[in-house]
Amino acid sequence: MPTVTFHGACGVVTGSCTHLDWGERQVLVDCGMYQGGEELEARNRSPFPFRPAELTAVVVTHAHLDHTGLLPRLATEGYSGPVYCTAPSRGLISLVLQDAGKIQEEEARYARRQGYSQHADPRPLYTADDARRVLKLLKTVPFGEERELFPGVRLRFVRAGHLLGAASVEISAKGSDGERRAWCFSGDVGRYGVPILKDPEPPSGAPAALLLESTYGDRRHSGEDAAAALGRIVEETYARGGMVIIPAFALGRTQDLLYHLSALADAGRLDPSTVFLDSPMAINATEIYERAEAEHDEDFEALANNPLDAGLFVRVRTVDESKALNTRGEPAVIVAASGMANGGRVVHHLLHRLGDKRSSVVFAGYQAAGTRGRALIDGAETIGIHGQTVWVKAQIHQLQSLSAHADRDELLRWCRALPAPPQRIFLNHGEDPARKALAAALADELGWPRPRLPLTGEPVPW
Ligand SMILES: [Zn+2]
Repeated sequence: MPTVTFHGACGVVTGSCTHLDWGERQVLVDCGMYQGGEELEARNRSPFPFRPAELTAVVVTHAHLDHTGLLPRLATEGYSGPVYCTAPSRGLISLVLQDAGKIQEEEARYARRQGYSQHADPRPLYTADDARRVLKLLKTVPFGEERELFPGVRLRFVRAGHLLGAASVEISAKGSDGERRAWCFSGDVGRYGVPILKDPEPPSGAPAALLLESTYGDRRHSGEDAAAALGRIVEETYARGGMVIIPAFALGRTQDLLYHLSALADAGRLDPSTVFLDSPMAINATEIYERAEAEHDEDFEALANNPLDAGLFVRVRTVDESKALNTRGEPAVIVAASGMANGGRVVHHLLHRLGDKRSSVVFAGYQAAGTRGRALIDGAETIGIHGQTVWVKAQIHQLQSLSAHADRDELLRWCRALPAPPQRIFLNHGEDPARKALAAALADELGWPRPRLPLTGEPVPW
């Protein structure tokens, strides 16, 4: 009898990985990394609860590391079959996995030099070469088209609106009773009416079973107008002669910010030659976003000036150009990764500007516990950077409405668009309070069967 086993993202928001087992054939949906805290991240080195070499196919919902981050390990441990993704996902997956491999090599080198690792010979989880090996296995499937994974089992991607190329995945197969039924794996569901990308779409058929994400299952995003708030902050900071530092996630959030900044430029409220995109990864991701015209929504296509155009803002690729910004006296907007200020070039900009009361730091979205971003939005008076204590004099802002995840109401909206309620619903990719709140909302407000909150390693029949 075919079974589905939830191997990750059960009660947490990272490590997505679901194993479908038909006995002779096995399929994996996502192979994500755990992120956030040593205890959780130690799981990235645990043996897989299946044999990678025995998998028939792997399907990936979108490029974020918590859905793709362990793919290179699959390849180094013997998997050589196809990894299916959407065409726009392919470029982003290539960016993030090679970057992840490089970072892990650097961290292992650093740990070895400092001697702080518990291991005599700290080894990277995988290398950039390992990442490149798995990239050769990527096979793209257009949105909406059906593809046979193996005889009798079919795959289809549906737009999820969460990130360029992000998809919900439908897999249909016969159960042990001989009936064909579909499972829908929502992936991460995006938001409605946001810039650039098309809105989330519901699965084409009525799935018998739904595995739904629940990141914000217990929250509603604030109704703040991100563009208006950003415009106000930029104008006030420029009037004081300060810098606007925006720690941004390279994929998705950066492109949304460029969209809002471009609208300010169009309105004559911001000189575009004072806006710096200081992140090679974000620049590369922006180029991939720009080329993916089929994924742009109508509003984006109607813009007179393309916010993703290379000529609009200043792109900073080299380290020297980035360092030159440290001594800049005139006001500027600097968009730099990482989004929670835990690494990347933005850390240097914070080191130079946090102590300046004329400047502003604008966080674009959720800040996890334990990150510099979280400490700053919680009002820390000082912050540690590269062994120095930095006094926080700059103004700290957080634009919550720039989230890439559907909130509770948007998840319900996505569910309402299904042609019929699923017979079985499973909630993952959310902490337990969020899963429980969403389960109650689906049962009470939509009258759906009570969802189950699966545990890690829990198998259920197809
Ligand atoms: Zn995601």
